[in-house]
Amino acid sequence: MRVPYVNFPEQFRQSREETMAAVESVLSRGDFIQGQAVSEFEEAFAKLCGVKFAIGCANGTDSLIMCMRELGIGPRDEVITTSNSWISSASSIALIGARPVFVDVDTDQNMNPALLEKAITKKTKCIMPVHLTGRCARMPEIMAIADKHGIPVLEDAAQAICASVAGIKAGCGGLFGSFSLHPLKNLNATGDAGIITTNDEQRAKKLRMWRNHGMRNRDEIDFWGYNSRLDTLQAAILNVRLKKLPEVIERRRSLAKRYITALNEVVQCPFERDDEFHTFHVFVIQCDRRDELQKFLLEQGVDTKIHYPIPIHLQRAAAELGYKRGDLPETEKQMSRILSLPINQYLSDEQADLVIEKVREFYS
Ligand SMILES: *Cc1c(COP(=O)(O)O)cnc(C)c1O
Repeated sequence: MRVPYVNFPEQFRQSREETMAAVESVLSRGDFIQGQAVSEFEEAFAKLCGVKFAIGCANGTDSLIMCMRELGIGPRDEVITTSNSWISSASSIALIGARPVFVDVDTDQNMNPALLEKAITKKTKCIMPVHLTGRCARMPEIMAIADKHGIPVLEDAAQAICASVAGIKAGCGGLFGSFSLHPLKNLNATGDAGIITTNDEQRAKKLRMWRNHGMRNRDEIDFWGYNSRLDTLQAAILNVRLKKLPEVIERRRSLAKRYITALNEVVQCPFERDDEFHTFHVFVIQCDRRDELQKFLLEQGVDTKIHYPIPIHLQRAAAELGYKRGDLPETEKQMSRILSLPINQYLSDEQADLVIEKVREFYS
């Protein structure tokens, strides 16, 4: 028995008919750019997240970039985020000429709110908490600090669709929520796709222009915008998959519960506070002898990943920012201890039990 980390062929097999029908309807209509499926998806997505507006775009990196451009952020500005994320959280900031400022994380792998206020300067133009692993950062505390200083919050909710904390759903707590619909996310396209959420009508209108060349209408361009539209074919497939998302999340949560029950004394498992809803985009354990464990599991047929082995502040790309080892102790401690166990919704209980058995065997 093998335990694969992801299983895209199985996802297609289980939804072949609806998926092909969705593709067929787009090809038949021929509305490839900003077609009907895009507005349908945007409406359904906004409803799912409990926000007024959702603006589809090309990917979950452009979505971050366009939100910050809309805020007028650029050279000499600072944006606060975390370093143990996918590169986009910081590259989006650097690519618009601003400076990423990293705050260390807590044991839950998310921004430590107790360290946030110290990182704020006169140059801080935005706070970007990342909801890593499918679990929300501590939004009540983060929003209180942001509001006190009058700084807008852009949530990098790429991994956390439908997660919540203290009744606040991912993408609803700040001014903007940014989502990726990359094939690896819980709600996934068959290529690149992203979407932005907001309750601000004016900003929503502007973001629709940012993603489409700054066009007011067919003939008038108000500002230099991007070509970053959500593809209609992808939107059609996403409409099919959106309906199944609650099941996907429930299956992941049930696999997580199985892992936690059986592994909690052996390794440090992710936990869920009383006020949280964790969607388990990834299931990250923290453990000793991580590399040895990963090698052992692979030999036993269990595929694992590391999200992420090198924190952004220690990447070559970030050298110009001047960070060094020791600057973010908790992030750096976790980087050699984290391991993502397979948790895709297509795993059987037997496969999950094999993962459990092999992890226990390794530490016995
Ligand atoms: C996936 C992801 C993104 C954006 O990814 P794209 O590939 O550009 O869609 C941004 N931030 C985080 C934390 C992510 O996991």
